[in-house]
Amino acid sequence: MVKNQTVTITIEDIGNDGEGIGRYEGYTLFVKGAVVGDVAKVKVLKAKKTYGYAKLEELLTASPDRVTPRCPVAGRCGGCQLQHIAYERQLAYKADKVKNCLARIGGIPMEKLEQLMEPIIGMEEPYYYRNKAQYPVGTDKEGRPVMGFYASHSHNIIECMDCAIQEPVNAVILPVIKEFMQEKKISAYEEESGKGLLRHVLTRVGFTTKEVMLCLIINGKKVPFVDELVEKVSAVVENFKDFNGTGGYLLKSFCLNVNTAKTNVILGQEIIPVYGETYITDYIGDIKYQISPLSFYQVNPKQTVKLYEKALEYAGLSGDETVWDLYCGIGTISLFLAQKAKQVYGVEIIPQAIEDAKNNARINGLTNAEFFVGAAEDVMPAKYRESGGTMKADVICVDPPRKGCEESLLDTVAAMEPERIVYVSCDPATLARDVKYLGEKGYEVKKVCPVEQFGHSFHVETVVLLSNERN
Ligand code: SAH
Repeated sequence: MVKNQTVTITIEDIGNDGEGIGRYEGYTLFVKGAVVGDVAKVKVLKAKKTYGYAKLEELLTASPDRVTPRCPVAGRCGGCQLQHIAYERQLAYKADKVKNCLARIGGIPMEKLEQLMEPIIGMEEPYYYRNKAQYPVGTDKEGRPVMGFYASHSHNIIECMDCAIQEPVNAVILPVIKEFMQEKKISAYEEESGKGLLRHVLTRVGFTTKEVMLCLIINGKKVPFVDELVEKVSAVVENFKDFNGTGGYLLKSFCLNVNTAKTNVILGQEIIPVYGETYITDYIGDIKYQISPLSFYQVNPKQTVKLYEKALEYAGLSGDETVWDLYCGIGTISLFLAQKAKQVYGVEIIPQAIEDAKNNARINGLTNAEFFVGAAEDVMPAKYRESGGTMKADVICVDPPRKGCEESLLDTVAAMEPERIVYVSCDPATLARDVKYLGEKGYEVKKVCPVEQFGHSFHVETVVLLSNERN
C-alpha cells in the first residue's frame, strides 16, 4: 500500500477512537468517519508496513447503522466521535469494548463474562446532557471573535455555539458574549503571542436547580464593562425556555478566573467573584452539592445518578458497614454511600476537592463521612501500617482516573479484607489490568455493568463488583 492509493474496502470493525477499520488484501486501514458495514472507496493518507490511515472518498454502500449527525460540525469538532453512528450501536460498541478488555487483559473467560455482565445502561435522550462546557475563544480570519471547540488533535477552533450535547441554555449565552466582545472591542487570547484577554468561557448548569454559572477565563484581572455583560446574560438566561418549554433558569454565579500562564491548562487558581455566589448547587438523588468553577463534578447528571445507584447496589449496604471511597473528588460517591452505611471515609489528592467534600457533608447534615487529603496509594498503606495491620473495611469503592490504581494501593485494599470492592472506572483497559491483579489476591469479579456517561464519544464508564466470597 502506498500513499494516495485508492481502494475499495468494507468496514468490519471499530477502533479505539471510533474510527472504522477495514482490510485490503490483509492490510489494515483505519478510516475516520467510516461505520461498520460501510462499503467505501478510501484514499490512503499514511501508509505503514502492515497498516495505514485512509480518508473516506466515496461511500458506495452506507451501513444500516449510519445516521445523520444532529450537529452540523460533528465531523470536524473534536468533541464527539460517534454522532454518525446510531445510538444503539454506540452502546453495543461500548459494552463490547468493556467485555473485550476484561477478557483479553483481565483474563476472564468470555463465557463467564456473558453471565456476569449486565446490559449497558444507556441514556434515554443522548443529547443536551452535559452540565459543564468549556469553550475556547479565538479570532477568525476576518478578525471576529469565535468560540466553540477544538478540532480533534489540534487547537483550531471550530465555531459552535449551540452544541447538541450541552445544556441548551448555553446556546443563548454564547452569542451574548460574542456580541459583547465585538461591541466593547474585547480581544480574544492568542496562544502563540500570549496576548489578548478572553481565553475560555466556562459554563455550568445545575440540572435539577436550573442554576447557571458563567466563568470567564482571562489573561488579566478584569473585563471592561463586565457589569453590562452580567445584566445581558442574566436577562437571556431568565427568559430562556428549553425545547419542552421549561424555563426557570437563573444566573446564580458570574466569576472571572485568572490564567496568565502560557499553558494548555484551561483554568488558573484565582477566582474573582463578579456577581452572585462563586458556586452553584445541584442534586444527585437526594444529596445536594455545591460546585465551584474549579471543582470536579460528573458532567452527565442524569446518568451519574444511575452510575452511583449501581455502585450503591453493588456495595450492598445494610447500615452497619465501614466504607472507604478512594479517589472521592468532592465526596459525591462518599455521600451517596453515607446515606446507607455506618461510616464512610473518603480519600482524594486535591485539597480543594476535600474542602468541598467536607462542606457537602455539612450542608446535607451527614456526620458519618470523614475525608482525607492525599494520594490514595500513600494515605491507605500509611494508615494500614499505623494500625499495625488491624484496619479493616466492609466495602471499598475506588474511582480512579484513567491510569487506574497503583499496585501498592491494591495490595492494601486486599489486605483490609473488604467483603466487597466496588470499582468504578472510566478506562476499561486499566480496569481489566487492576481486576486481574485483585484476582491474584483472591478477589473475583461478580458483576459488571457499563454505564453510559458520554454519548457520542468513545468513552465508557463501568462499575464492577468484586468479592472474596467463594460462591
Ligand atoms: N469519585 C468522584 C471523582 C472521580 S474522578 C466522582 O464521582 O465525582 C477521580 C478523582 O481522583 C479526581 O478527583 C482526582 O483528583 C483524584 N485523584 C487522582 N489521582 C489520585 C490519587 N493518586 N489519589 C487520590 N485521588 C486521586
